[in-house]
Formats: sequence, C-alpha cells, structure tokens
Amino acid sequence: MGGINTNFNLLAAGYLFPEIARRSKAWLSIHPGQKLISLGIGNTTEALPPSLVKAMKDKLDLLSNRETYTGYGDEQGDTTLRVALKEYYTKYGVTLDDKEFFISDGAKSDAANLQELFSPDCIVAVQDPAYPVYVDSNVVGGRTGEFNLSVGRYEKLVYLECTKETNFIPKVPTQHVDVIYLCSPNNPTGAVMSKSDLKEFVDYAKREKAVIIFDAAYCEYISDETLPHSIYEIEGANECAIELNSFSKSSGFTGVRLGWTIVPFKAVIGDSNPGVLNHMWNRRQCTFFNGASNISQAGGLAALSDEGHKECMDLINYYKGNAKLIRDGLTECGFTCFGGDNSPYIWAECPNSYSSWDFFDILLDKCQVIVTPGVGFGPAGECYVRVSSYGHRENVIAALARIKEYFKK
Ligand code: PLP
Repeated sequence: MGGINTNFNLLAAGYLFPEIARRSKAWLSIHPGQKLISLGIGNTTEALPPSLVKAMKDKLDLLSNRETYTGYGDEQGDTTLRVALKEYYTKYGVTLDDKEFFISDGAKSDAANLQELFSPDCIVAVQDPAYPVYVDSNVVGGRTGEFNLSVGRYEKLVYLECTKETNFIPKVPTQHVDVIYLCSPNNPTGAVMSKSDLKEFVDYAKREKAVIIFDAAYCEYISDETLPHSIYEIEGANECAIELNSFSKSSGFTGVRLGWTIVPFKAVIGDSNPGVLNHMWNRRQCTFFNGASNISQAGGLAALSDEGHKECMDLINYYKGNAKLIRDGLTECGFTCFGGDNSPYIWAECPNSYSSWDFFDILLDKCQVIVTPGVGFGPAGECYVRVSSYGHRENVIAALARIKEYFKK
C-alpha cells in the first residue's frame, strides 16, 4: 500500500536552528526587554555591493519594458554567466567547459538534490561535523538506516571524523564508499583542505570509482594562496568530483539566491560512462527546475566583473575583520579557537569540557550571546561551538564585550 516517504521519520529530531530559536525565545520570555546578540547563524548582514545592485536594477528596467522583457531563461542558466564562471576558474588554473556549469538558486538545494543522481544502495561518507544538508538529503533518499541516538550517528553512513587531532581535516575512508561530501573551507570548523589533502581524496575516489561532492561555498574567504579554491586544481578531479558553489557568502546573495554546480563531462561513479552524470543533472534540472532568477543572474554576472569582484572582496574582508575580532577576543578569554583566518567561522572549544548545548546555554544566560552548538553538526562537534562572523561590526564588538565581561572576571 502506498503512503508517505517514511524516510522522513528517520530525520533526527530537533533540527539545530529551530532548537536554537526555541531556547532563545524561552529565555527571552522570562527575561523580557533583554536584547540577545546572535553570532549563531551563517546569514549575511551587510548591504549588497553597489555595482551588483546597479546590474540588478538595470535588469529590472529591461523587464519593465515590453520591448526588452524576457520570461523563462535556460534551465542551465544564462550562457553569459556560465561563460563568465568558466573564465573565473581560469585564475586558479582550472579549465572547464561552460556546459559543465549549471546555475541554480543556491548551493543548498543543489547539495540536497544531487543525491537523486545516485542509486539507493550507494554508501555515503560525510565529514563529522558537517553542514547538515548532506546527511539529511541522504536520509530522505533512503541511504542511511536508523539514527542511533547513543552515538549520534546514522547506521549506514560513514563518518569521517574531523577533530583537533586531525586538524579538523578528514582522512580518506578506510572502507569502500561511493559518494563523499567534502566542504572546504569548512562549515562549521573553518578548516581548509590543502592540495595534498584533496589529492588523497581524488586518488581514493578514482581507485574506488566514487564521486566527491565538493562544496566550495566559502572559497573566496581563503587568504592563504597556497590553499585550493576549487577541487579541480587537483589533477584528475574532473573525473571524480562535482563542485558546488554559491554567491551567498561571497556577494551577500543569501536572500537574492544564486549558486552553481559543476558536473564535468568526464565525471563518473561506479561503472557509469563519462558524460552520463552531466547528462543526468542536465535532465534533472530541465525537468524539475525552471532556471535561476534572471535578476539574480544579472547580479551574479556583475559580481564576476573586475569592479564587482573588488566590491565583493571588500564585503568579504569586512566579515573577515569580524572573524579576527572574534577569534582574538575569545582567545583573550582563554578559549581555544580554530578557523576564522580562511573562513567566516570560528570553531571554539568549550571551556571546562562543557557540552556544546551547556556552553550555548551559559553564553545565552550569562552573556546574552547566541552561538551554534557544534554537536548540531555531528557527534564530533560535541564540546565545540561555532561562532559566526556574519553580523554588524558594532554587534560583534558588543557581543565580545559581554563575553569578556563574564569570562575575564
Ligand atoms: N554550503 C555550505 C557549506 C553552507 O554553509 C551554505 C550556507 O550556509 C550553503 C552551502 C548554502 O548556500 P546557498 O545560500 O547558496 O543555498
């Protein structure tokens, strides 16, 4: 008998951000009039770069005129934007074909939808901790089995632990897997994989006929130019890797919505022939997606121009300035911190071996500052919190002052 997709029942209860909202609301209800400062969510706060705004306004003007109005565009995205993205990769020495690019409404939906390309019996590996959509989309896709509450893990998933001992860098699986999700610079730890780290994964994937889904949403935050911005900087990665990226954190497009996915012609999984994954993703997008907003795409194109890129880098540097303040401020309070130099996130070890949620509650109750409990990203995130640099500078300074006042007493 038919019915609901019961895999939804397997999703671990209490998704992280609703639980943070619930606790914050409960605290405010017994402390009316108090103001909480959030360094918890990875949501941008600063105004859009001017040349991107102009490009979107100009596009809107064209749409306001019958002579220049356009409706649906290509499902894969505007050719001009795909070509501009292809050009963007050449600065990293990466050569791709514009038909390997698929423009979307953001990396989160692509990260979730990509699992549709793989058979239900694929073995999936994720970093632990990890951005939750990689796990949850595979739960819904039926590849995970039950959630084991005592260890905080799904039965059939392979967890690649990223701990202080590994510098928060994953090690290649010790068993066969078919699909591997990697995120670098990493959300939540802020760790960035080096070329040799990535090469080990590329070698593994080619050996095991696995596919890597590489999420590079924060690559523009990399300051250390020896670190790779794209997995395709590694030779042979186009035979085994799909890359995701987004304008959200590089251009302030969290609300505007625009991202892209690269599915190289040569990429394969198992015994699939080269070209099949690219063809399938094209088919999937043409069938289930009507293309990204034409206004957003005009803004995205402007972000890739020299002027737009410079303005976007100013925006990124603003958040990186916040990240430095946060890391320095927390370190002054005696916390051990990681990340924040090539990423917008600081991964702070909870003092006194507090659990992530206990430390969250202390920061909420004693400092009125919201952070994100690390355990919400996976069991290896226990005893850490993620502190986000997305916020107005004055709020970051005020939050740090509150934390210092309490912890430096
Ligand atoms: N990938 C990672 C690692 C993220 O942290 C985020 C957003 O926080 C996304 C993807 C989502 O990007 P988008 O806004 O393009 O959907």
